[in-house]
Amino acid sequence: MQLKFHMVTIEDLVPEGHFLRKLDTVLDLGFVYEEMAHLYSRRYGRPPIDPVVLVKYLLVGFLYGIPSERQIEQRIQTDVALRWYLGLDLFDRVPDHSTISQLRRRKPNFRKIFRRLFEEVVRQCVAKGLASGRLVGTDSTHVKANASRASEELVALPESPGAYWERLDAYEEEGLEELERRTGKRRKKRVKQIKKDRRQTKKRVSRTDPEAGHMKRPGKPRGQHYLSHQTVDTDCGVILDVTVTPGDVYDSVPYLDQIERVHRNILPIQAAAADAAYDFPLAHQALKELEIQFFVRPQAFHDRTNVELKREAFQYDESLDAYVCPNGKLLNLNTLHRSASGLYWLYLADKQDCQCCPLRKKCLSQQDKRGARKLEHSYFTAQRKQNLSRLSDPVYREALKKRQIWCEGTFAAQKREHNLTRVLRRGLEAAEDHCLLSATALNLKRLIWNTK
Ligand code: SF4
Repeated sequence: MQLKFHMVTIEDLVPEGHFLRKLDTVLDLGFVYEEMAHLYSRRYGRPPIDPVVLVKYLLVGFLYGIPSERQIEQRIQTDVALRWYLGLDLFDRVPDHSTISQLRRRKPNFRKIFRRLFEEVVRQCVAKGLASGRLVGTDSTHVKANASRASEELVALPESPGAYWERLDAYEEEGLEELERRTGKRRKKRVKQIKKDRRQTKKRVSRTDPEAGHMKRPGKPRGQHYLSHQTVDTDCGVILDVTVTPGDVYDSVPYLDQIERVHRNILPIQAAAADAAYDFPLAHQALKELEIQFFVRPQAFHDRTNVELKREAFQYDESLDAYVCPNGKLLNLNTLHRSASGLYWLYLADKQDCQCCPLRKKCLSQQDKRGARKLEHSYFTAQRKQNLSRLSDPVYREALKKRQIWCEGTFAAQKREHNLTRVLRRGLEAAEDHCLLSATALNLKRLIWNTK
């Protein structure tokens, strides 16, 4: 074989218009030095590896869907464009993959840079007009945890008071005043009673990653997972916020905090769309108070009462503020009930009416100790009904369609190209870093595609 000598620099080998050249122009990582300055000593030890190089090292892994840090190192060794982006010359030594693990172990604050990087990219997308807040969509996707089902064991854990427990406080005060006005009855707040009454629940917990959660949803794989909850702007698909939870957390749990964070810190939201998992009564009220239009697919109501006469057999009469039962008797407002998941008006039939009723066997279950039929509806029903009454409106349908296209399309792209199928490291923080980097990678692509 005849050897040839070429006089080239690495600069000559990366074509004009290469994605990484555009990325280098668009993304200024100067803030990394400021953020990480406190992690390094200026007086002692060997000079550290440039922190910007380490951030780029991880970022290219997510941009090109390289699943592990060991494989990123191997790709950088042979890929000239990646070397150029990291500022390494043709024969410079590529930082060892273990450098990143050591940095995470020795300097846990290093991980803060991922949230900051994500926020910086979102800020740039908003500044370039790629996100407006006219309509945002929210959804979650499962990311497999690095834990097998064989590592699971059943553990009894105290039941938490519910994600929106604190938020319901103010509504309960207001509701109790209304109860007194409507019925003349006074009742104390239930806060202390419920907090005393801590029940236990059994969960499948993994011994190898106890922070993951056992996911069991129809049509989804079972086992230990994390969930990445994302709110996406439907103008160009910019991901505005990422929250990560264990795989057994309901989608509704982080929803209101996420929407409020985006609304207050990133850009004012005008309308929000979500699928049926987010159709919980408090969401309708909370979004109305933020002056955000809420387009949500209604959740199918499953009447789980173990009797023949289900809820549909009772008619609500607004003028009487009572339900009328199939025997023509009234179920009057009795009290305001607060549970871990919400606040409900409780309507109760008269015990004497039920005792001599021919439909008694079809209407009352054997467990019913009161001897009278009860029905409840949410304290926020009026707002929910008002929102859902627009379901057939073309604007409403269009909003739901856009949510589906952008949220589900974004997850599909992240899973296909940006490592959002599984996390290799363990723990909630590691999962959050992973999902943030995946979202940052996709946002950067959308920023570059939409920047001339
Ligand atoms: S049992 Fe009571 S609530 Fe049920 S139909 Fe009879 S009277 Fe009405």
